Amino acid sequence: MAIFICSECGHTEETPEEYIGKKARCLSCQTMGTVQAKPPAPPRQSPQPVVKESSAAPPPQDFVKEETPVPQAPASASRSNSLTFVLIGLVAAILVIQLLSIRLNMPASVQWEYKIVSPKDSVIIEELDDLGEQGWEVVTARRASGYNDSYSYEMILKRAK
Ligand SMILES: [Zn+2]
Repeated sequence: MAIFICSECGHTEETPEEYIGKKARCLSCQTMGTVQAKPPAPPRQSPQPVVKESSAAPPPQDFVKEETPVPQAPASASRSNSLTFVLIGLVAAILVIQLLSIRLNMPASVQWEYKIVSPKDSVIIEELDDLGEQGWEVVTARRASGYNDSYSYEMILKRAK
């Protein structure tokens, strides 16, 4: 295609290519001018910016792709940190529970040893004093008969092992 552009009034008129370089008269103001080849560049250049835009579009996508892993790493790190905190809390709770249970079980876990004595009435006080110094405690005491119809206190004692 060819085009006639009037230098006087700006009127444009498309003409066949066979008129390129030939003189023509403006249909609007009758000024003489030259028919020029219609520049095909503008319609072809317009797609090029689109290509540039499309080529410029991927970099942001790459940036987005690069940015997305960065937030993901801290997110996973924070998740692992929260998991470690939870695990530490569980371990601490278990330790506290075990310590409390140990303290609670301590009285029940005390082992007692027992002893049965039947001292003569004449030395029973001295005998109990000695046994008391050794940590023995009387659990039960009863009057029981021994040899030769003699009676004495038969006592069951206990102390912690
Ligand atoms: Zn004109």
